[in-house]
Amino acid sequence: MKWQETYEAVIGLEVHAELKTTSKMFCGCNNDPFGADKPNIYTCPVCLGMPGGIPVANKRAIEWTIKLGYATGCSINEFSKFDRKHYFYPDLAKGYQISQYDLPFCYNGIIETPMGKVRLRRIHLEEDTGKLMHTSIEGKKVSLIDFNRGGVPLVEVVTEPDIKSGTQAKEYGKKLRHILRFLDIADCDMEQGGMRLEANISLRKKGETELPNYKVEIKNINSFRFMEAAIDYELTRQAEILETGKTPVQETRGWNSQKNETFSQRIKEEAEDYRYFPDPDLPPFHFSKEYLAEIKKTLPELTNEVTTRWTKEFSIQPNKAEELAMVDDAKLISWLEKILNLLKENKLNITSFINDYINKKIEVKDFEEPSSVIEKFRAAHKTEEVGDELLATTIKQVLAENQDAVQKYQTGQKQVFGFLMGQMLRSLGKKVDPQLIRQTLQAALES
Ligand code: ADP
Ligand code: MG
Ligand code: ZN
Repeated sequence: MKWQETYEAVIGLEVHAELKTTSKMFCGCNNDPFGADKPNIYTCPVCLGMPGGIPVANKRAIEWTIKLGYATGCSINEFSKFDRKHYFYPDLAKGYQISQYDLPFCYNGIIETPMGKVRLRRIHLEEDTGKLMHTSIEGKKVSLIDFNRGGVPLVEVVTEPDIKSGTQAKEYGKKLRHILRFLDIADCDMEQGGMRLEANISLRKKGETELPNYKVEIKNINSFRFMEAAIDYELTRQAEILETGKTPVQETRGWNSQKNETFSQRIKEEAEDYRYFPDPDLPPFHFSKEYLAEIKKTLPELTNEVTTRWTKEFSIQPNKAEELAMVDDAKLISWLEKILNLLKENKLNITSFINDYINKKIEVKDFEEPSSVIEKFRAAHKTEEVGDELLATTIKQVLAENQDAVQKYQTGQKQVFGFLMGQMLRSLGKKVDPQLIRQTLQAALES
């Protein structure tokens, strides 16, 4: 059975990304978990959860989180705070994680995808945990802990359950990663765990508007492709259960990328199990309007704004403008714009340039001298001079060899023109100016 015939997917994503601040979230330790050449070298009493360690919040991490909020159309809570979320796991030294519960820094945002808008419920800031390694030493199985990652600033972006397919979830994830990189606040290296995805999935009958009374959460997905596959698998599994009149169990599942299936991990805990309460070591924040305005001012011109402007200024299709503007390094935008201006001044075909650039048809290095880029584009499209004599003899020959087509053309079947044009270009070699050939051929046919 195809679930799409009867049901509608209801999907909400929770995405974690590590911020690339110099130091950790609540202490002065280096924030470089992937660059460290030994375990546990970037640690101190605070991020190891030792008695007496007092956290101090990283100002830059907070400002970057608010900046992300502005870039995604969020409102910002002028009053905000950190809370303790309690649970036990060996990678969490304190026995609780410092996170945000009821007053996240940002709420009510939007991220656009090709399949529609996705509303953001909240963006909050928390600390990452250490990393467990299950391995063996001298034949003995051991579990090791590396706290280099413990206390690294981690933003969590939570959507409303607006996503309707695995493909849309993937597009949303890519867009969010693009924004994080464009703002230059996170590397989002998915393989190393710098960006991690969780999908909440349920199904309802088409036409229903209420949320289903269950959801299944798939945790620890580390690629967009796996997320798409896991969601597709899960939707089919749930539809089969619903078809038998039962409700899927509300639980956390994992993704087995070898078997291409999800598997049950645990029945989910409720918020009250975490005993959230405000962290008494971290005073709450009152952000003034002026301070928030200062943060907002540091935003670069965003990709959709650049797209709109380029569409107008260079008279190109919005999708072409967006293809070009979708670069992760914001500094490339002004460089690309210099090239666009040169193309315009020289009356060159901008769409053709964008196609060449995106498909790597011309070899261009980032930040290369714009005039040199233009030269390369011209060279790629250089046409050879065709002498009048060569042109005349080629036309004569092509017409003589294709009398059928000529006759068709002359009795009104104009579509054979393309075929004759092709014959001309083949005889002459393709680096000739097609406009010139077209005009001359047309004249010859109509004389
Ligand atoms: P929890 O308390 O279990 O973490 P939340 O209500 O905080 O659940 O929502 C977590 C995520 O799950 C959000 O992205 C939200 O949009 C999504 N979500 C909530 N209800 C559903 C549902 N019935 N089906 C799919 N996703 C849902
Ligand atoms: Mg959750
Ligand atoms: Zn530390």
